[in-house]
Amino acid sequence: MTENLNLWFDPEKCLIAGKWISCASGDSLPLMNPSNGERIGAIARGRASDIDAAVAAAHEARKGDWGRTTAAERGRFLFRLGKLVEDRIEDLARIEALDVGKPLKQARNDAVALVRYLEFYGGAADKLHGETIPYLEGYTVYTLREPFGVTGHIVPWNYPMQIIGRSVGAALAVGNACVLKPAEDACLTALAFADLAREAGLPEGALNVVPGLGSEAGAALTAHPNVQHISFTGSVATGVQVQMAAARNVVPVTLELGGKSPQIFFEDGDLEAALPFLVNAGIQNAGQTCSASSRILVQRSRLAEVAERMAEKYRALKVGPALADLDVGPLISAKQQGIVSSFLDRGADLEKVAEGRFLDAPGEGNYVKPTLFAGVDPSHVLARDEIFGPVQVIIPFDTEDEATAIANGTDYGLVASIWTRDGARQMRMAKKIRTGQVFINNYGAGGGVELPFGGMGKSGHGREKGFEALYGFTSLKTVAAYHG
Ligand code: NAD
Repeated sequence: MTENLNLWFDPEKCLIAGKWISCASGDSLPLMNPSNGERIGAIARGRASDIDAAVAAAHEARKGDWGRTTAAERGRFLFRLGKLVEDRIEDLARIEALDVGKPLKQARNDAVALVRYLEFYGGAADKLHGETIPYLEGYTVYTLREPFGVTGHIVPWNYPMQIIGRSVGAALAVGNACVLKPAEDACLTALAFADLAREAGLPEGALNVVPGLGSEAGAALTAHPNVQHISFTGSVATGVQVQMAAARNVVPVTLELGGKSPQIFFEDGDLEAALPFLVNAGIQNAGQTCSASSRILVQRSRLAEVAERMAEKYRALKVGPALADLDVGPLISAKQQGIVSSFLDRGADLEKVAEGRFLDAPGEGNYVKPTLFAGVDPSHVLARDEIFGPVQVIIPFDTEDEATAIANGTDYGLVASIWTRDGARQMRMAKKIRTGQVFINNYGAGGGVELPFGGMGKSGHGREKGFEALYGFTSLKTVAAYHG
């Protein structure tokens, strides 16, 4: 059945200088419903000339009304926008579920998180300040935190609303003007967000949105000589290209590139408390989460018990269309389904402990069954590579040192969790693990928008979320006045 999107904006337009306009070529890209493989609409196929227009509009906004706003006014604007998003949570959740394929309640969580980002950055906008620095006799020295100017935001398809909230929300709070290039596979909530920003009274040009392909609109934005900062979330391969393009313009980049995040369960761990996190962190959004926990490291004396309890949960997982609101929806695209299926094929030599089940025949949707493997050697490809699907491996270990070596033994370093009642071990492990976030006896801490987030190694660099993002989206200027 073809689902009606009920959009209140035209998805085939770009938002440039406060107006919804067709992209210069008039070309479009198909919009697919991952739950049934049907085409549900089209989006604009923006290219370099559209990006040029968006960047120019953003510079005009900086020179005009947006550049003159006070921090308090920007905060008030973000609160107004947050309220408009809040009033539309159900609409946004349904649109996201149809576009991304994620179960409705997970899409609703994303919309709620977007509201929280706007509230957080609304409240923080007028609390960012520089410092005075004691210096030589006759001098007064202080620092100013200034917006970069025009910031480019390249957003993937897995959590559009959350990633827009954390990057565009923070960039606007400190006075940048933004050009947003959402993912070609899922860009509807980016357009909805932009329309609500207009309704909230954002001066024209302060936020511009150009949908299109990564190789066209995305590449044009990252290489643009008049963009002063790039925020990118996506794959390592694309992240490298983005950083190389930005390097030619000597422009700073924030890269958030995914991971192979471990949960480390020690023999004194509380399994009842851990169990929901062990599984949910692997299958949420069908595993298409940069901070998905795809590796479960278990101390050998608890191995059989943890594997069996996780297997019970896996056998109860229901897979089906996004609007059926089950545990696991489809993957974003047939391409992603192919990638994950080929990883499952490469796991044929492993001990498959359990799988989820389809509620009905999967039809043409991009489904795979959530799959749990146990007894996996850390050198196996499924224990090393980011799969970006609902697949987890259980890896045994004997000692704390071995657990640390395995946890730190991939190219990635995004997040990790430690399950143990031993306080000294909690502190030791938190120091030894090489990731941007470490959780003790939880995983993800509820996704808190207040918590700085970002990677080490090939998970990327720079931090978004929390107050830290405000530093990331500003340039620090030192002023030294000699007055005798
Ligand atoms: P991708 O990195 O190619 O796309 C992410 C975003 O970058 C999209 O908006 C895309 O249009 C844009 N993009 C692509 N090429 C670009 C270029 N040359 N210059 C500028 N922007 C460009 O990711 P994908 O192809 O959608 O997914 C492939 C893999 O990436 C997945 O299997 C997964 O492993 C990983 N991924 C990670 C995350 C994450 O949150 N870390 C998100 C999405 C995908």
